[in-house]
Amino acid sequence: MTQNIRSRIADLSEKLHFHIYRYHVLNDPLITDGEYDRMFRELQELEAEHPQYAREDSPTQRVGSDLSGDFLKVEHPAPILSLANAFDVADLSQWEERNLRLLPSGSQLGYVLQPKLDGLSIVISYENGELTRAATRGNGILGDDVTANVKTIRTVPLRIPVDPASGAAPPRLVVRGEILFHKDAFLELNQEQEAQGLPAYINARNTASGSLKQKDSRETAKRKLTAYIYDIVDSEGVELRSEWEILQFLGAMGFNLITDASRCSDLVEAAAQLAGWEARRDDLPFEIDGLVLKVDDLSAARELGVAGKDPRGAIAYKFPAEEAATTLLGVTIGVGRTGKLTPTAQLEPVFIGGVTVSSASLHNYDQVAALDIRQGDRVVIKRSGDVIPYVIGPVLGARSGDEKPILPPEVCPFCATKVVQPEGAIDWFCPNPTCPERVMRTLEFFVSRGAMDIEGMGPQTISALIDKGLIQDEADIFTLQAEPLLALEGFAEKKVENLLGSIEAAKARPFAQVLTSLGLDGVGSTVAGLLTDNFASMADLLATAEQAREAEAAFIRQTSPLIAAMSGEDPDQEKLFQRMRRPSTDLAPRYLDAPELASRLERLLRPLNLSTESVAVIAEHLQSLIDASRPIHTIDGLGPILAQNIVDWFTDEHNKTVLAKMQAAGVNMQAEEKVAAGTALAGKTFVLTGTMSVPRGKIKALVEANGGKVTGSVSKKTGYVVAGDSPGSKVEKAEKIGVPILSEDELRALLGE
Ligand SMILES: [Zn+2]
Repeated sequence: MTQNIRSRIADLSEKLHFHIYRYHVLNDPLITDGEYDRMFRELQELEAEHPQYAREDSPTQRVGSDLSGDFLKVEHPAPILSLANAFDVADLSQWEERNLRLLPSGSQLGYVLQPKLDGLSIVISYENGELTRAATRGNGILGDDVTANVKTIRTVPLRIPVDPASGAAPPRLVVRGEILFHKDAFLELNQEQEAQGLPAYINARNTASGSLKQKDSRETAKRKLTAYIYDIVDSEGVELRSEWEILQFLGAMGFNLITDASRCSDLVEAAAQLAGWEARRDDLPFEIDGLVLKVDDLSAARELGVAGKDPRGAIAYKFPAEEAATTLLGVTIGVGRTGKLTPTAQLEPVFIGGVTVSSASLHNYDQVAALDIRQGDRVVIKRSGDVIPYVIGPVLGARSGDEKPILPPEVCPFCATKVVQPEGAIDWFCPNPTCPERVMRTLEFFVSRGAMDIEGMGPQTISALIDKGLIQDEADIFTLQAEPLLALEGFAEKKVENLLGSIEAAKARPFAQVLTSLGLDGVGSTVAGLLTDNFASMADLLATAEQAREAEAAFIRQTSPLIAAMSGEDPDQEKLFQRMRRPSTDLAPRYLDAPELASRLERLLRPLNLSTESVAVIAEHLQSLIDASRPIHTIDGLGPILAQNIVDWFTDEHNKTVLAKMQAAGVNMQAEEKVAAGTALAGKTFVLTGTMSVPRGKIKALVEANGGKVTGSVSKKTGYVVAGDSPGSKVEKAEKIGVPILSEDELRALLGE
């Protein structure tokens, strides 16, 4: 028995050390916080019961650290403590009883209850009201100096009090808070990633951490981080008696507070609120993983002191875990409308957060390989809100050795076509556009609400129509006739009439909606709107895509003989070859507005030792490519990879045939005519930068409605740069080349607003 306990303690210590390393150093945890907490607590309990087996190097003896090698280390004015955990009301009662035993008899404790934010701890110092330093929590004693990055976060005041009417700032104030992404900001960030053709971020907290640890604070500034401040670490000239007063004081100084903190006269009152918080969890704008309960009276809290690394006067109440471990039995493969293969884990059913889960997302095969998830593994599953449950990672310690690696299939499970992984992509695809599974998913999406919205055409109907050979693609829907439909089982006259009616109505959907319905990877309603803003009709878009494709083919045709003669063994040369093989994404966008293209290209290509004539030929063809693809590359908000996807899709023979059939059947393929509100800005080109009072797209629409044009980069041809808050390098460039800079107000004044 004792041997078992000793080895269990050793085992837990080792596992926790490993996961602390994954989490804090690699920023890539393999298990959930819930799983970690459970292991940590088990170790704590075993060590408390059997102190003789506790190890010197136990993870319970150290404070977690987020220190990384890239930043200056700074010492906190006081240790930044962590909190002990409670998992139910009984834990809270025990905590209170222990505390009361340490206080004079007859003491009564009141509490402040607030949500426990799932973000990154930050310590910010103010000297005479001015922000002088911001540091990560680090190991609790030392943190990383991230002052420049934290200053870009708008909810962090650079000077306090924000409202001078709130009186004077204390000579010194060091506050503690949390930095995080609001759920909608994280969603938006992922939409931008998608528009750029980049993979989505999975974990909001890790992404916030990565954002805060950018070496270039301009990168941090691009992320919409929010800071909440909730405690005072150290101060001079501030006399407060309770936690509640601390919050009031921080609020008066102008810090961003969580508004829902509550002051409870006793533990019963606080405990009564736990269930309500848990129920509201998914509706809050930010992620929380529990609640924090603090003894309100600061003198009592001081008297209680610190146990280990936890102050006795505060405790974290953790919500029941929404993760659980179970066995990964097998993997099924789905094929989406774009051909993307999605592996799904089939699980030994497990109860998580109130529901039984028997399958979970594995994201993609790269992720599976990175996490080394194997069939037969014990895996940790997370479920939160409406998100599909997903596999966090394997429990490595539970391996028997019989687990099998999970690899992408060689052929599509639905049509047996060899699967492909396009260069730079993380996903695998079935490339066959007539793959029955892809056709089914394409049609399902095409008729769905938000797409063409064809009522009466559910998956069963689509399936029946495909089976009877009545439709093979989206366009066939629009030429369906009543007679063959009436011959189908369950299709009475009224039903057929209604279906044909809704198909007829769908032909008149706005052009942007038609584009969205096509289901191109990365083209949702936002990007479709960008396209219809820039292309008057499908014919326009198709012609531009065709020109861009031809110019690219000509470029590659002309340049490949020039570079074929070279070995490419030199890594610098190889990099250049790759760029020249992908001129549409790697060259054209970069030299879009470059003056003296030939001489800039000569500098770029110098490692290749080409003749001046060869460089001139390359420059000429690059210029043709730039000219041909300009209408696509100048669309603000469309990254080069997505632009390339669009060109690929609209030059694909199968897609072109479907579009031609749709057009012939009378589906709307024209953008609505834009009505110009004025011509005050006619002929002027604008570049927008920084944060405006409204989304930048609205300012763009305003400029365009008044006859102006908006482009993405500053050149001598730019009429004005309009700069909002924290503008980037575009303003510097404008100053350098003498382009006038306007504020948003000045722009509005120009329009007579
Ligand atoms: Zn297939």
